[in-house]
Amino acid sequence: MTRSGADPRIELDRAPLPDPAEIRWLRRSLCDWYHAFKRDLPWRRRSDAFAIWISESMLQQTRVETVIPYFERFMARFKDLAALAEGEEEEVLALWSGLGYYRRARALHAAAREIMEFHGGVFPHERSALLGLPGVGPYTAGAVLSMAFGASEALVDGNVARVFARVFALEAPLRSPALEQALWRFAEALVPADAGESADAQKGVDPGSWNQAVMELGATLCTPKGPRCQLCPLQERCEARARGRAEELPIPAPRRPLVAVELEMLLARTGERTLLTRRPPGGRMAGMWELPTREIPNARGETHLWEADFSTFALAGGCIPIGEELSTLRHAITHHRITVSLRRATFDPSGAQVRAQNESTWRLAADDDLASLALTGLTKKALRAVSGPAL
Ligand code: SF4
Repeated sequence: MTRSGADPRIELDRAPLPDPAEIRWLRRSLCDWYHAFKRDLPWRRRSDAFAIWISESMLQQTRVETVIPYFERFMARFKDLAALAEGEEEEVLALWSGLGYYRRARALHAAAREIMEFHGGVFPHERSALLGLPGVGPYTAGAVLSMAFGASEALVDGNVARVFARVFALEAPLRSPALEQALWRFAEALVPADAGESADAQKGVDPGSWNQAVMELGATLCTPKGPRCQLCPLQERCEARARGRAEELPIPAPRRPLVAVELEMLLARTGERTLLTRRPPGGRMAGMWELPTREIPNARGETHLWEADFSTFALAGGCIPIGEELSTLRHAITHHRITVSLRRATFDPSGAQVRAQNESTWRLAADDDLASLALTGLTKKALRAVSGPAL
């Protein structure tokens, strides 16, 4: 309910769209600002669908500064769709390792193969075809179509949501159906016409520039805390600013309670090799490699993201005894707040017979190979903690 007591869904359904003159002003003002002040980012030096698709997939829920080195390494290895389709999933995951959201990396790889097989190696230009690819949702489809092909396609992400909620004073909690519907309604009304049909496009007011401009404003000036309204090109039309409510909008989504998780993780080495186990297929971080890990059940129960014992490690040929603690680590995965006791363990490599049967679930990785494996972010952090920033 809003402060007036009315159902916000009804109010947002009726929230008037800007009139045509105002839309022209918004587009012009924001695109001019974007072309003058946009950050120089590696993916902005390219306009091909492949680079846009990869960068936009990496950028979802991840900071630009984090993504830059990942993007550069990924593009150096996979120069185009064909190279990605021919690559092994293991290598894709290794290049993604540390970015999180590994389902996205798997989906990219699967989609590249589908495009090669069913679309003649050419990115589909139709929204419905793009949406049929693994991992491509309305945001990614809008990004590729508008930025690579100049199509009049809208998109909504967290930055767009914040900017629109403030400029148009959209009062409903983030991620609520009422706000989502309103955001898409405004986004579709505001995105300029196809670049190919529009005289405005010659002046830099095209769908790709507009979509990137809204996101850039949200990332640089219209930030969650302390928006810099005095520098904002939309300040004179911004409802939230006029009402002194810039920092109060958008209304936050109800918070998911944080869950404390305790793990024990083993560093078992023999010579210059480290024992790794493979996460089971189908679940979170499926197929990634990690140090043997178990979850210590506590008062709130178990997450079941890890086993409660070292059964895979035991199969690898022996894990006894578990020795001294090497480090205590803290890590976050979505709403899980994880404390890890990293301990030394002894590994007896003589279990060769068992090894032959189970090598898909564990391996002894040479130090030189660790950087090329698809390690979980937590395992990377643990290895850095004991061996310096070599990974
Ligand atoms: S005036 Fe302030 S709150 Fe409004 S869009 Fe600009 S930065 Fe955001």
